Amino acid sequence: MPSDFDDLIAANRDFAAHFELAGFDGVARAGVAIVTCMDSRIDPLGMVGLKPGDAKIFRNPGGRVTDQALEALVLGVHLLNVDRVLVIPHTRCAMASSTLEQVREKVAASAGQDVSWQTFSMVADQRAALADDVHKVVSHPLIPDSVKVGGFIYDVDTGLLNPVV
Ligand SMILES: [Zn+2]
Repeated sequence: MPSDFDDLIAANRDFAAHFELAGFDGVARAGVAIVTCMDSRIDPLGMVGLKPGDAKIFRNPGGRVTDQALEALVLGVHLLNVDRVLVIPHTRCAMASSTLEQVREKVAASAGQDVSWQTFSMVADQRAALADDVHKVVSHPLIPDSVKVGGFIYDVDTGLLNPVV
């Protein structure tokens, strides 16, 4: 069956031929969960020296602690061995360097239609948003005090994580 995904499926066959991740139980072996942006410049495991199997990764535009991120963290903490949580937005993030109007204009130009109905969760103040997001995790009634929560901004130009909260 020819498809638009042939190149990726071919790569998957090669991946599977050397597959070494079978038999994992799905827990976070290193006890780490990371909430970060969907940005393709970010390698969430590599940036902290982890490998597949070590961490739970939750990504969205901006790396925000949304209701669904909290859902993932509660599951991670109670069922999947997580005891440290890193919230990691990044420098030069489009979600934090554009206004809602600017993003709507760009998407509307690409889509050729009105997009005023589409939500885009822009970030006006990245550091303040990160503090709020860390607080959301720390203050969640189902996240115990024993879980360590840190907020960091990842620098996409140097690869460095800079602690903020
Ligand atoms: Zn981003």
